[in-house]
Amino acid sequence: MSRHLPHPTADTKAFWDGCAIGELRYQVCVHCGHVQFIPGSLCSACHQGDLAWKTSAGGGRILSHTTVHRAPTPAFRDEVPYVIALIDMDEGFRLMVNVKGGASPDVAIGQPVRIGFREVEGVKLPQAEVIS
Ligand SMILES: [Zn+2]
Repeated sequence: MSRHLPHPTADTKAFWDGCAIGELRYQVCVHCGHVQFIPGSLCSACHQGDLAWKTSAGGGRILSHTTVHRAPTPAFRDEVPYVIALIDMDEGFRLMVNVKGGASPDVAIGQPVRIGFREVEGVKLPQAEVIS
C-alpha cells in the first residue's frame, strides 16, 4: 500500500521543488515581513499577495513531540514506533515533521534539531535530526 504523499499545488510547488533539491523553503511577506508556513498565495497576517520565498538554514528546536506506536495505515507498519515533532525553526516558522531515528530517547522539548530530507517513494520529505 502506498502512502499519502504530497500533491503540489500552485501555492506549494516552490516548497516541494525546494525539498527535491534539499532546500527547506518558507515564505516572507514583502509587505509586512510576516514569516509564513504553510505556504499560501496571501499573507495570513495582512492578506497582501506579495510573498517571497526564502530558504531556511535548517536549524530549529522541538516544541512538542509524540511517539506513534500504532501504524495509521498498513503502509507504516514497518516504521512504528516513530516520532513526529513540532519544530520551531530559527527563522520564525513552525513545521511538523518525522524525527530521524525511530522512537529515539534523545527527543525532548527544547532539543535542537537540523532539518534534512529522506526519500519516500521518489519524493523527498523534510525530516528532523536531533543534534546532541
Ligand atoms: Zn503581510
